Amino acid sequence: MMKSMMMNTTMKNTMVKKSKPQRKCVGCNEMKDKSQLIRIAKISDDEFVFDKTGKQNGRGAYICKSKECLEKAFRNKGFERSFKCKISTEIYNGLEQEIQAYEA
Ligand SMILES: [Zn+2]
Repeated sequence: MMKSMMMNTTMKNTMVKKSKPQRKCVGCNEMKDKSQLIRIAKISDDEFVFDKTGKQNGRGAYICKSKECLEKAFRNKGFERSFKCKISTEIYNGLEQEIQAYEA
């Protein structure tokens, strides 16, 4: 009885250590390791930036480092849902230009 409880605790600890923080991509809606995603932060209603440090203030959304997912997020309104505001084509175009630098 005692032994099995201890084993469970050990297993739990190992699992916690192993699991990396995961976030959902607003484009493909898949859960991925945070390191595979990039955070987009909303600074103001018409200003969005790629948050390389993850420390930028403001509402944020995570997306894969791919133009494809950015396009999906824009088309499926994942962006607008996450940020609770309209995303203009201008903003989208700006982000599209920038995400190319992060694409693997
Ligand atoms: Zn994605």
